[in-house]
Amino acid sequence: MTLQYSEIMIRYGELSTKGKNRMRFINKLKRNIQDVLAIYPSVTVTADRDRCHVFLNGTAYEPVATSLKTIFGIQAFSPVYRLDKDVTVLKKVVQNIMKSLYQEGMTFKITSKRSDHSFEYDSRELNHLLGHAVFEVLPNIKAQMKQPDVTLKVEIRDEAAYISHEEVKGAGGLPVGTAGKGMLMLSGGIDSPVAGYLALKRGVDIEAVHFASPPYTSPGALKKAHDLTRKLTKFGGNIQFLEVPFTEIQEEIKAKAPEAYLMTLTRRFMMRITDRLREERHGLVIVNGESLGQVASQTLESMQAINAVTTTPVIRPVATMDKLEIINLAEQIDTFQISIQPFEDCCTIFAPDRPKTNPKLKYAERCEKRLDVETLVERAVAGVKITAITPQVEDDIAQMIDDLL
Ligand code: ATP
Ligand code: MG
Repeated sequence: MTLQYSEIMIRYGELSTKGKNRMRFINKLKRNIQDVLAIYPSVTVTADRDRCHVFLNGTAYEPVATSLKTIFGIQAFSPVYRLDKDVTVLKKVVQNIMKSLYQEGMTFKITSKRSDHSFEYDSRELNHLLGHAVFEVLPNIKAQMKQPDVTLKVEIRDEAAYISHEEVKGAGGLPVGTAGKGMLMLSGGIDSPVAGYLALKRGVDIEAVHFASPPYTSPGALKKAHDLTRKLTKFGGNIQFLEVPFTEIQEEIKAKAPEAYLMTLTRRFMMRITDRLREERHGLVIVNGESLGQVASQTLESMQAINAVTTTPVIRPVATMDKLEIINLAEQIDTFQISIQPFEDCCTIFAPDRPKTNPKLKYAERCEKRLDVETLVERAVAGVKITAITPQVEDDIAQMIDDLL
């Protein structure tokens, strides 16, 4: 008999357990799961206060499980077999499962639950019956009630019987979107995607803001930012990608500002524009990939001068991390290989040879008097191009599906 998982049962992570907030969290998580699993058209999702259920409807379990593992707000999940409510069938399946898992010295327990009270055995009888079935095929296995190696859960519901024995650890964190929205300043580098990932983990729904300066920056650089955004969608679903036309501003700054302040002024414009977009799109916070001491723009003096254009909170999830720690995370979330592709960023191209590491706010403001800041910002904001980035069947998952078919 070949067995196939029919359903995946999901346990919630660290949710607000109180009152009406809980349902809001759960509904958000359900929608995120639906977004991420939209790549598998026959899969359906339901959620109640205690559990969320993913019905496979014939889709293979493994690729779906791979997708579930990255969604924030999931504590753990278990694949489940759906079976006929027939004791002979149940016995046979329990025996097969245990035989496939058995290793010497293994302990097990069966916990049955019967919500269909018309079923011929109650849960205690079922535990015995199925336990004995296991001893028939594995005489050396031991039953153990406390912390057994394997717990087989059997549930008799109205429509069918269900068996599960495996628990897979989820990504934890909070469902993306439950903390509100933030604008992620996403370059093509290593740090900002990691910053985005960490913000997503605490429930911030992000929109990616990317500054592009064609023809100085190439379509390759833009595609890189798209690809990075797509990698981030697997943690909570679709992400809006906002491409800001930045060429005019960079040319203006280059023409009118002193070399040493190019970088500071450029960053101040980026921050202003991101903040304007945040306001328009009802975001609450700005997220960026600044990391202390990495480059000239990332000294505390620099942060001060740049941050002075707004009072909006700016979250810098990687600010205090070492580069190697950031790279480690980038590898884990699979953005590293994309980030190191050699496409020049708008900042690299206009980067002065010797940027100021301790820019003065007053001086930056004085330089800006020579620019029509408001008009430049407005024009950039008006020219923003928005694309919805959705999860995609990843190559390795696609390969897995091919292998399974
Ligand atoms: P990253 O690895 O994220 O590119 P970095 O170490 O190269 O960061 P900087 O180039 O100084 O650092 O950029 C600092 C932050 O400013 C970035 O992490 C990002 O949040 C934002 N930023 C820089 N360039 C862009 C851009 N072209 N579009 C959007 N945000 C940007
Ligand atoms: Mg960079």
